[in-house]
Amino acid sequence: MHKKLFIPGPIDCRPEVLEKLSQPMIGHRTKECTEIGQRIMANMQKIWKTKNVVVISTTSGSGLMESAIKCCTAKRAACFSVGSFGDRWHKMAVTNGVEADIFRSEEGKCTTPEMVEEALATGKYDLITVTHNETSSGVMNPVGEIAKVVAKYPDVVFCVDSVSSAGGADIPVDEWGIDICITSTQKCLGVPPGLSLASVSEKAYNRAKTVPNRGLYLDIVSIYDMMAEKAQYPSTPALSLMYALDWQLDQIVNVEGIENRYARHIEMAEYIRAWAKKHFGLVADEAHLSNTLTVIKKPENVDIADLNKKLGELGLAIAPGYGKLKASSFRISHMGDYTMEDMKLVTSSIEKVLGL
Ligand SMILES: *Cc1c(COP(=O)(O)O)cnc(C)c1O
Repeated sequence: MHKKLFIPGPIDCRPEVLEKLSQPMIGHRTKECTEIGQRIMANMQKIWKTKNVVVISTTSGSGLMESAIKCCTAKRAACFSVGSFGDRWHKMAVTNGVEADIFRSEEGKCTTPEMVEEALATGKYDLITVTHNETSSGVMNPVGEIAKVVAKYPDVVFCVDSVSSAGGADIPVDEWGIDICITSTQKCLGVPPGLSLASVSEKAYNRAKTVPNRGLYLDIVSIYDMMAEKAQYPSTPALSLMYALDWQLDQIVNVEGIENRYARHIEMAEYIRAWAKKHFGLVADEAHLSNTLTVIKKPENVDIADLNKKLGELGLAIAPGYGKLKASSFRISHMGDYTMEDMKLVTSSIEKVLGL
């Protein structure tokens, strides 16, 4: 039996999205392929409210995260981390020989504008990474507030991980001055995993041109050039996923409408949070709760593997905790094309299994 996935990616995709995956191949240097690339770029620009080029890569989100920090740090990177995914960006720097420091917040707390100000005031850094939505703790960082600080440092390339929030929460890239904003297809966009998307500013592009040893496959300069010129990819892209993404982005932008989509995510988030607070408690600070997933405190006597086994019999799955919060929490995603009815399914199923 298929289990409906309430994990923070991959999530269930609409049948039409899955159907698109089985369409016949086209040449990746054809006009047809360019048109698909152009439509994907134009719709992502609407979602992110940006005029920047949006690149597509045939990797999951981590591919463009690694590319961004490797290709765009000339001096030293400051990685702000509120959990596992923030830590990962720092590890990507270190393992690529990029000079970087990490600034961690306590689990459940956000990156504050003050922390960013303090780091940037040293003049040591020319790139920063911030997680918009930390999928391990359920914190949604105040990126709009952080952006006001970053704006005072025009030489700093501002990179944001919006892997688990783009398409589910408003991220106005140009208003916030984000130079590189990254996402994956398998979370709020509701497409299978395998593609990554990033908006890339001219500033980030020009910086990358000064950095030697950017590698070849994920060189952000060549990916940007091909996208800007022909809306194509330097290698052979995952065409099937592009068909699915193309269809889905049209639904998001032109059928549902992005503001309606964000409102629906907030409605689902508020419902899950209220329910979780009544029965368990939340991990993240109340002022910075994610709109796309909720990370819930796990009572000692609840075994998540066991709970999930029983939920599986009812046709759904939730996620255990992640990273440092693995043993003490569990996670319910409310992203993509899910509805309030789905939310009620997940809460009533958990109530049934645990006898709440
Ligand atoms: C899922 C996730 C990633 C990793 O993305 P992949 O597409 O699996 O490479 C990075 N950051 C955050 C916040 C995520 O939720």
